[in-house]
Amino acid sequence: MSRRIGLFGGTFDPIHNGHLRSALEVHEWLGLDELRLIPSARPPHREVPGATAQQRLEMARLAVQHADGLVVDDRELRRERPSYTVDTLESLRTELGDDVALFMVVGWDAFCGLPSWHRWTELLELASIVVLQRPDYDLDAPEVLKDLMAGRSVNDASEATACHGQIVGLTQTPLAISASHIRGLIAENRSPRFLLPGSVLGYIETNGLYQPT
Ligand code: ATP
Repeated sequence: MSRRIGLFGGTFDPIHNGHLRSALEVHEWLGLDELRLIPSARPPHREVPGATAQQRLEMARLAVQHADGLVVDDRELRRERPSYTVDTLESLRTELGDDVALFMVVGWDAFCGLPSWHRWTELLELASIVVLQRPDYDLDAPEVLKDLMAGRSVNDASEATACHGQIVGLTQTPLAISASHIRGLIAENRSPRFLLPGSVLGYIETNGLYQPT
């Protein structure tokens, strides 16, 4: 069977247990060989005070240090400007070859916005898409995506066997944790402990990140 690799992008400012738990569940459910967390570069005009790209990367690496099957891929930070997803997938394909199953993980909201992504029709030629749905959501996909989904959708991991081109639905209850909440707690001198790995919190404290100004 082909190697199976999951891709989970985000700003990870900072990475937290919501990201990690979700990534682990995707890894297990799809029987992946590895799941790559891919920190994204931020456009210069959206750069906020807080962690630099290098610090976000180091926190992600610390977070997965003892997590089997979760790894960090820094390719988007090595580029000179923010990458389009299609560029990242092309770069992975060039490196890994065609005989690898790639699964790009996106939330339902992001999936519904897919038609506005750069060269979006090419995405499924490069990877399959794993759409995370919340059990309490009962939303309909936009019309333009319904045609795309017909014939490509699978809801059982055992059917997710292609190297690209499938739309795989996975229902998941996300933990109520967000990076902005964590930054807010620290800015108010409150503890974000247990919302993120201790190693990441130690890094934040050592480097004085997200402190009140
Ligand atoms: P912020 O609060 O700064 O917007 P965030 O916590 O949402 O940050 P991102 O780096 O923007 O984190 O998210 C990266 C990916 O992780 C996105 O696909 C997002 O939907 C997902 N994600 C964020 N929080 C959770 C969570 N608690 N559980 C599962 N997935 C999450």
